[in-house]
Amino acid sequence: MRAVVTGGAGFLGSHLCDYLLARGWDVLSIDNLVTGTERNVHHLRDNPHFRMMQHDVTKYIEVPGEVDYVLHFASPASPVDYLKLPIQTLKVGSLGTHNTLGLALAKKAKYFLASTSECYGDPAISPQPETYWGNVNTVGPRGVYDEAKRFAEALVMAYHRAKGLDTHIVRIFNTYGPRMRLNDGRALPNFVHQGLTGQPITVYGTGKQTRSFCYVSDLIEGIYRLMMSDEHLPTNIGNPHEITILEFAERVRTLLGVTTPIVFEPLPQDDPKQRCPDISKARRVLAWEPKVNLEEGLRMTLESFKKQFSEAQQASK
Ligand code: UDP
Repeated sequence: MRAVVTGGAGFLGSHLCDYLLARGWDVLSIDNLVTGTERNVHHLRDNPHFRMMQHDVTKYIEVPGEVDYVLHFASPASPVDYLKLPIQTLKVGSLGTHNTLGLALAKKAKYFLASTSECYGDPAISPQPETYWGNVNTVGPRGVYDEAKRFAEALVMAYHRAKGLDTHIVRIFNTYGPRMRLNDGRALPNFVHQGLTGQPITVYGTGKQTRSFCYVSDLIEGIYRLMMSDEHLPTNIGNPHEITILEFAERVRTLLGVTTPIVFEPLPQDDPKQRCPDISKARRVLAWEPKVNLEEGLRMTLESFKKQFSEAQQASK
């Protein structure tokens, strides 16, 4: 089997490449390295089954040879990144999805879209089942990501229904693990970076807003099961263990063994007040549920962050 993974040098994309290679697939990663980095796939450089192409998937994609699966994971995904790259974010979700669907069609390949819990916006119900249509501010700061992904889902379903393409859509909830960028602006990397540099830990708003954090290996396992299933409608993959951001900050601080204070800063506009996946469908259809609890997952992630941090310090010397 040969897969094309867009965003293969990103956080999730690189873990997906690892997973597929370990199962004997050949993998071509396509990434323009805007938010991804070659460091994430450095360990694969001598693997004859892995190749990397530096290319912007919003432009026509040319891939020689046979392809069995196209997996579209390219996109800025942290709120700070997509606020910095609003037009690129809209383009990779729209034009990038169109081009990758076209590639799949031309190659008679299957197709997989990495979508997001952001499709639910600031949800009025919790936990969020796939049947919930969401509450998105189209013209707010997060609209560039949310609407791009909602459009992407609609386009994928149109290719499925009108052209008979074998497609799959995952709605990914907050995920964490090794290879997240320490400076991507998300809660966990921020808290860790602040803890390691002795700066106060910044909690936005009251910290009562909730998130549910899934360890990356659990997420990738769910994605693989969905890839191989007959399920075509969007499917939530995430960890249903919900926690307030304040409690999360305290957990990270304790695990880091630091005593830096927690300070409160203004809540960004349209920041969802609650987020928790209803994973009944994934349990039923994919026989999947997360296995790694927050404590274990955070320990593994903190080790990798500490390494990234000391490497960055060495490099700056
Ligand atoms: N957050 C925070 N402090 C930070 C970064 C984020 O309190 O330094 C909050 C943010 O406002 C949100 C939650 O943590 O309520 C998760 O934010 P993140 O950027 O990780 O992703 P999101 O789930 O909002 O897409």
